[in-house]
Amino acid sequence: MPSQQKPLNLAKELQQKFPAEVLSTLREVGKVASQMGVTAYAVGGFVRDLLLGTPTLDIDIVVEGNGIALAQKLSQIWQVDLTVHERFLTATLHWRLKEPKSASTPAPTHACALSRLDIATARKERYPNPAALPEVEPASIFDDLWRRDFTINAMAICLDPKRFGELVDPTGGFNDLRQGVIRVLHKRSFVDDPTRIFRAVRYEQRFDFEIERKTLQLIRHARNESLLTKLSRDRIKHELWRILQERDPTKPMRRLSELRILPVIAPELCVTKKRLEWMRRTNEWLNWFAEKFPEKPLEREWALLLPLLPTVEAVNSFSQRYQLGESERECGLALLKALKRRTPKRPSNWVRWLNPLPLEAALVLAAKRSSPNDLLWQRYFLEWRWTRPDITGEDLKACGIAGRAISVGLQAALAVKLDEGADAHKQLEVALRRAQPYRTLRR
Ligand code: ATP
Repeated sequence: MPSQQKPLNLAKELQQKFPAEVLSTLREVGKVASQMGVTAYAVGGFVRDLLLGTPTLDIDIVVEGNGIALAQKLSQIWQVDLTVHERFLTATLHWRLKEPKSASTPAPTHACALSRLDIATARKERYPNPAALPEVEPASIFDDLWRRDFTINAMAICLDPKRFGELVDPTGGFNDLRQGVIRVLHKRSFVDDPTRIFRAVRYEQRFDFEIERKTLQLIRHARNESLLTKLSRDRIKHELWRILQERDPTKPMRRLSELRILPVIAPELCVTKKRLEWMRRTNEWLNWFAEKFPEKPLEREWALLLPLLPTVEAVNSFSQRYQLGESERECGLALLKALKRRTPKRPSNWVRWLNPLPLEAALVLAAKRSSPNDLLWQRYFLEWRWTRPDITGEDLKACGIAGRAISVGLQAALAVKLDEGADAHKQLEVALRRAQPYRTLRR
């Protein structure tokens, strides 16, 4: 982090930390804004992460003046898609490149490292009721920074060509970042928006910071005053899911439990040292699987919560509270049932045990019984789960097998392939033998 001089200018950091095309995008935002008579700033997490030395391409721009008009202008210049939210005074540029209108208007290349750019009009917020969504009106960059959650998120970098790189830090964010402190900007912060409690914990644990003493008191007070219960279930779930998306979600979950916040929002979650360890291993297994099969989507957040839901009642109650789908609930219940069985020896029994489970449940089970270095479990996910017999139902039909006997035969073929490495000929022989007694059974 650079040492603080006045006024601190971060142009050099921007240049060192970002690819040239991102830097030129930022410069162009500042230049076009200035030509329109307004001033643009990069704000929030972008500034925080740059100062922490972990730059992000998730860039939020705030404009002192009409942000939507600037976004419209940039979308024309760069030929990129635009979405506008008039009510919130915000717009987003999307780098799905449009076809150039003619050969003489080439598609832009300078900004392609970004996939999107959020642009907002600087605004003030008014909270009509505690925990309600705020009413917004245009304002100065200072007002905009003062409405934010924590000092470390309330800094801006000016993009105007004459002041490019200048840090705007009205709340002392730079110092707090240096000292590793999460601090709210005023004492009604959690009353206005209790979701900030989750955000405080998330940043504290992500950066190994500390929630500042008074801020911590305000969190405890908010909890005692049951402010969290004023939030909609949707907003709580959104924050909880963001916590579960952290690199190590066990840290914020432990902290939420220590602060006695989890019992308020989800009393069915059982947070013990052992279960958190199971959650940590689930995270490892999910990462391992995502790396091996990037094309297979996983419901990561739900999988991570499953180790904390010890009973059928807990799974049902949590699913209902946060209106999860039937498939999530069933995944939780199937896991609880499968946990009752011991880990089998033969591959065919692994398949019989685990293949009926959704992938998420199988990975949570793997985390309970092993670490991602366990070769047997790896083999299940890499190979056994996807193995199919080399014969088909058609082959069995051709031999006079019908109805349920076909699936019995195919299962037997798969088992002999997995357990003994049998070839197609042997698989057919075993399948026919095994299917015989079922020939008269209906499907
Ligand atoms: P992350 O790395 O977690 O995504 P971020 O800072 O980009 O961090 P966002 O949730 O995208 O987080 O929010 C962007 C900015 O908007 C924050 O840096 C903060 O200044 C402001 N902000 C977001 N949520 C709130 C809130 N509930 N109250 C006040 N300010 C908020």
